[in-house]
Formats: sequence, C-alpha cells, structure tokens
Amino acid sequence: MRRIWKQMSHFRSRFQSVSRFTSNVKGRSLAVAIGFVGLSVAAACGASQNAAPQGASPQRAETKWKFDGQAAWDSLVKQVAFGPRVPGTPPQEKCKEYLLEELRKGCDDAHIQELSHRWAFTNKVVPIYNVIGTQNWKDAKVRVVLLAHWDSRPFADGPNSPLSYRTKPYPYKPIPGANDGASGVAVLLELAKALKGRHPDVGILYLLDDGEDLGPDMSEMLLGVDYFAKNMPSPKPDYGILLDMIGKKDMVVGEEIESLKYAEKLTKAFFANAKEVGLGKTFPDQEADDIEDDHWPLIQRGVPTLDLIDFRYDQWHTQDDTPAHCSKESLVATGIALESFLLRTPYFKP
Ligand SMILES: [Zn+2]
Repeated sequence: MRRIWKQMSHFRSRFQSVSRFTSNVKGRSLAVAIGFVGLSVAAACGASQNAAPQGASPQRAETKWKFDGQAAWDSLVKQVAFGPRVPGTPPQEKCKEYLLEELRKGCDDAHIQELSHRWAFTNKVVPIYNVIGTQNWKDAKVRVVLLAHWDSRPFADGPNSPLSYRTKPYPYKPIPGANDGASGVAVLLELAKALKGRHPDVGILYLLDDGEDLGPDMSEMLLGVDYFAKNMPSPKPDYGILLDMIGKKDMVVGEEIESLKYAEKLTKAFFANAKEVGLGKTFPDQEADDIEDDHWPLIQRGVPTLDLIDFRYDQWHTQDDTPAHCSKESLVATGIALESFLLRTPYFKP
C-alpha cells in the first residue's frame, strides 16, 4: 500500500468510479502527517491481555479477552522465517500450507482461492493464493470480512532503502515483511481461535490475501483482494476491517481518511469501542493518513471497509522490516480491539 498523494494518476484510471479526487488531497495528507508526529511520540501501547473494559456494562465486564498475544507473536516470527513470501517462490508455497492449517483450527472451514497472474517483472505466470476461512457465515445476522495480506514485497523501494534499491528499474530485493504482511495475518490467525463459537449473530470471513504488494506498480498490486471482491461469497459481507502494518513498536493507529469517507459509521464505532476498552492511546480517534490499500476494492463493491494501519514506519519497504522492529504489545492491542468490537452487544451493523 502507499499514501494516496504519491499515486494520484494511477488511481484516477484504476478507480474512476470513485469520485474522491480533489486537488487538496495531497495538502490535506501532508497537514495530517505533520500533526501526527507529536502524537506518535507521546503515545504508547497500553494494552495487556487482562485489560478490563472501562465503563462497561455488567455483561461486558464479565468478558475475558481470549486473544493470545504470545501465539500471535510466534506466528509473526514463523512467517518471516519462511523467507519473503513472494508469489512464485518456495516460501510462498510453504507459508500457504501453514496459513491454511492454522486457519482451520479456528474456523468452521477453510480453503484456498487460487488465481494466476502473469507478472510483468519476470514475464512468468505466478500463483496468487487467498487463504479463506469462515465462522458462522450462513446463519449470521450481520457479516464481516476481516482481511490482511500475507505476501512480501519483492522490491525494497521504500524511502529509507539504499538509493540503488529504489531507482527504476528496481532490483529484486524482497523484504522480510514482518510488519508489512506478517503482523496483520498473525493477529487474524489468533483472533479466529479466540472468537470461535462466541458470536452467534455475527458471521466472520477471514481473508488472508496474496499479491497485495507484488508490483512494482499499483497495476500489479491488491491482486488477491481485487479478485475476492469481484467474486464475492453469497451472502456477501456487510462490512470489512483491514489490518495492515499493525505490528510496529509504539504503534499509533489513527482514523484513515478513506475509511472515514466511505465507512464513517464503522470507523467511529470501532475507535469508540477501542477507547472504551482502554486502548484509546493506540487507537486515538484522530484523522491519520490517506492510504491506497486493500480496503479499496471492497469499498468499490459496496462493502464499507475500515483500514487499520500505522503508516509511520521507518522500515517500510526496506530489508529492515524485521521482527526486531515489531512488538507483541501492538499485536495484543489490535487483537483485543477487534475481539472486543466483534463481541459487542448489540453487534455493530453498518
Ligand atoms: Zn507493502
């Protein structure tokens, strides 16, 4: 994913039907960026697995969060240990099997949605695997898709990489993808186990999507979710929550601009709940960046989707995107924010 103002021309053509492009997008993002710096410094992850809901109803006070932060951390480390999960490589095949096996533990069923893509960089066809699991999908009163990409960027073209790595044509320098890839997936795998059998009214579909970061250009990114959105399950999701780069140390996830624009009710409800369960420092209800990300294809297909992301990551798209720059506390905060939100009574409906 990238900040929108860097890719304006691309998205004018790719997402023409969304008339969001105004001349002030760039300026607004920059203004938000400047305002956010102080906040990042001041904030810290305040969650623990025993965090008690504050000001909660008696019913909610009894809730014990089951999200297993250590298991999520172990999963992040394990995914990275496979090597960069680049489509068409052995680590992709191995990690796919691992994800399917883990997702099966928490879900009613899990399967692979496979597509193929001719990658311009090698002119070879590579497989793209979405790993999908569901809980209580058919009988639910409201349905949510929770998603995170599991592939690793084949190019280290981030602003803090060596100049030769970010000079076109980019050399093949795949990134470890600890935060950008493994973090969101780790949370979803453990969330599925924590939530199993506990939400009779809510159907959940876990989408671990592939080909989000292939590129190098946006025309070859968001591939897995784009396919999913065009081949939506029936019944289709009522809303979505995307996890991307939610593992860095001292994480602060603000309200992403496109989420506010196209999923405002959801965004406000999620951040209000986070505050209520004591996670307001990690999830402050303040505007953050404007990101082109996996939530867009879903929004385009009528599924309001929230993007949870802390884009202020110095190791973004560098070969330093390793577990050393991530923290278990950030995974825990995200896991509990989601677990508590999805178990709310009454349940959220857009
Ligand atoms: Zn990325």
